[in-house]
Formats: sequence, structure tokens, C-alpha cells
Amino acid sequence: MSVSVSDLVREFHEACGLEARDRPAEVSAKLARHRQDLIEEEVGELAEAAAEGGLAEFAHELADVVYVAFGTALVHGIDLEAVLAEVHRANMSKLGPDGRPTLRADGKVLKGDRYRAPDVAAVLRAQGWEPRPAAE
Ligand SMILES: [Mg+2]
Repeated sequence: MSVSVSDLVREFHEACGLEARDRPAEVSAKLARHRQDLIEEEVGELAEAAAEGGLAEFAHELADVVYVAFGTALVHGIDLEAVLAEVHRANMSKLGPDGRPTLRADGKVLKGDRYRAPDVAAVLRAQGWEPRPAAE
């Protein structure tokens, strides 16, 4: 049995008494800001490691970015692995019928006729998300 990143991060949140939700929901502006600050702090450390650190430090900070991102998903009750799978599906639909990508001059993979954008709202609804009614 393999342990997912989501499981590891949930273990950490539960051990530390941090927030964790079981279904997607909007959170308070204060909590959302706090999570955003944590992500930005880790992205800053990643940039420093990329500029000045060795590969091990870079890998550490890269893992911190992913870890805090998964923690932010957990705080919002989002099963991020499922969202990632939907993003992956969309990315794979960029390939042509021959299974090959069309690349821009700088190497970016372009979207072709077969591209289908990710439907993240549908993934969240499948996780039990009930979107707020639009404001009138
Ligand atoms: Mg760090």
C-alpha cells in the first residue's frame, strides 16, 4: 500500500491541530490569507535555494512548496490529487492524434483541436462541493 501526499499532509495537520476539511468549502478570508502567506514564504525560499543552494536544498524547498500546497487544499477540503488528475487529463489532450505535441519555438506545448480544458468545478462537485449561489 502506498501512502499519498494527501495522507501525509493530513497526518501532519491532525498532529498539529491544524484545520482540515473533508469536503470542499470556501474558508474565511483570514485563513485563506494565512495559507497564501505560507505558500509565498515557501516559494521565496525555493527561489533563494534555486539561486544560491545546492540540489538537496533546492529539492527540500520544492517539497515544501508542494507540501504547503497540499495543506492548503486540505484546509479547503479539496482532494488535490483528483484535481491534479483532471489537470493531467487536460494536458494530455494537448497531444495530436499521432500522440505527439505541437511545440512553440520556446518549447511550450500548444493546445490543439483535441484539447479539452480541465473541468475543476465538476471535480469539486464530485467531492461534495456546493457552490455558493451567485450574488445578485
Ligand atoms: Mg522551506
